[in-house]
Amino acid sequence: MLPPETALWNFVESAVRDVFRAYNFQEIRTPIFEATELFARGVGEDTDIVSKEMFTFPLRPTRPELVDEIFEMSEMKPDLFTPGGEFVSSEDKMEFEKRKRSESISLRPEATASVCRAYIEHGMHTLPGNVKLYYMGPMFRRERPQKGRYRQFYQIGAEVLSHTGDLKDDARVDAEVIEMLTTFFEKAGLEGTALYLNSIGCKECRPKYVELLRAALTKVKDKLGPDSQRRIETNPLRVLDSKLESEQAIIEKLPRIAEHLCPDCLEEYTEVKKQLAMRGISYAQNFRLVRGLDYYMRTTFEITAPGLGSQNAVCGGGRYDGLVELLGGPPTKGIGFAIGTDRVILSLQDMRKLPVERALDVYVAWMGEKNYPAAVKIARRLREAGLAVELPPGEMKFGKALGLADKLGARYALIIGDDEVASGQFTVKRLEDGEQKKLGERELVAYLKAGEAP
Ligand code: AMP
Repeated sequence: MLPPETALWNFVESAVRDVFRAYNFQEIRTPIFEATELFARGVGEDTDIVSKEMFTFPLRPTRPELVDEIFEMSEMKPDLFTPGGEFVSSEDKMEFEKRKRSESISLRPEATASVCRAYIEHGMHTLPGNVKLYYMGPMFRRERPQKGRYRQFYQIGAEVLSHTGDLKDDARVDAEVIEMLTTFFEKAGLEGTALYLNSIGCKECRPKYVELLRAALTKVKDKLGPDSQRRIETNPLRVLDSKLESEQAIIEKLPRIAEHLCPDCLEEYTEVKKQLAMRGISYAQNFRLVRGLDYYMRTTFEITAPGLGSQNAVCGGGRYDGLVELLGGPPTKGIGFAIGTDRVILSLQDMRKLPVERALDVYVAWMGEKNYPAAVKIARRLREAGLAVELPPGEMKFGKALGLADKLGARYALIIGDDEVASGQFTVKRLEDGEQKKLGERELVAYLKAGEAP
């Protein structure tokens, strides 16, 4: 990421800070790497993220060469090797995988598990009220890079963790989190976003729905592609993700989870929709939105943006009651989301939203070696007043200095030569129209500040 694009990143990140602050969220910074075990438990071993996409490193290699080799081999031929490099049975392999996890670290593929770990480790459940945290930073997944999909990408996310509240409160929290998101997208100037909503039920109703789905899929098995056929057994929900043209009509007719929710989940889902309507937030229900992460339950949502091709999701989120408990903490409810910052930037660029870069205010054109100290002094004074000032390290001829000031996009050139230093009156030239003034130091600051770019 290079300037001037980085100015757009700064703009997006400061919009986030303003909006999240207004909703009383505070920043948390979690480590870039954590014990692999945390992600295996917190994200779910069967997810693509954990099973295929993490960058994992051994922690304490007793025999470094051997451990490295095993790590490589175990990924290429997972069935074949033990920690000692011998062929093994599948129980041995499981034991090896377990050991590999407990003795290794991984670059974070997402941050929710880390936030929950911090919540537990620092006893944050004793804090007053709901714990509302946000984060931003790089995440890492081993994926095939393409437009909008990178191995190091950036997320901005927020989580609300709470240990009290009924279903109605939960729905209000969900809606407020979504309201905060839409406010952020508005403030960032992202147009054409769409919010999709679903409920994926809970431990009670989801397994029953999955069976229903499996039965329905079995009936149409012959008409499905090989991937979906396999998923009927392994993970029927993922069939709903299928992009295969020939399967679309079939998927439309499958049973929908929102129609098979238990009374509690139905109550929450109905209330979330009511709360969104009350806040004037429009959404579309999408029964195919099932989220890739194991720990999600009830409310799930996704936001898409234009200009991104097939990778058009800019935000995914949902409720994960029970995750904190799974990681060894007290019973806790949770809802959160992660925005793909790279994609927000891409979409803004597609809309021709240019980097909001602050121009250079003043170029100090000083002449005569003996006048350099005076130039240093005035440059510091202007910088203290909040102006962006370029002070060239070497002396330049007048014409060349003004030419460079122009190329750098400076708004003013401040000319400092023998006369100026002797009289204490500085010559300032507005480069836009060539208007020139002679001003003392105090008026100079006032004049430049008054003409400052907004
Ligand atoms: P997830 O954590 O998978 O729910 O993803 C949340 C958001 O992060 C997605 O909607 C994307 O905008 C973004 N995202 C996920 N993976 C990547 C990636 N490899 N490259 C860029 N953005 C990503």
